[in-house]
Amino acid sequence: MADVGNREQSITKVPMIYVCGECHKENEIKPRDPIRCRECGYRIMYKKRTKRCILFNFNNSWSYTVESQ
Ligand SMILES: [Zn+2]
Repeated sequence: MADVGNREQSITKVPMIYVCGECHKENEIKPRDPIRCRECGYRIMYKKRTKRCILFNFNNSWSYTVESQ
């Protein structure tokens, strides 16, 4: 018997909270939104939970660095 029903979990689009690297304003950014502070326009955002993951927008493409412990 095939197990059906787990497909929905992988499609969830939950906006993430990022903190602006300049003014520290919290921004709610969805997966397809450009990384940019709505308050000051700064393009370097930090993930709220882990400060080790830095997301930034460079040449209109997404980049991120993750420093592993
Ligand atoms: Zn800002």
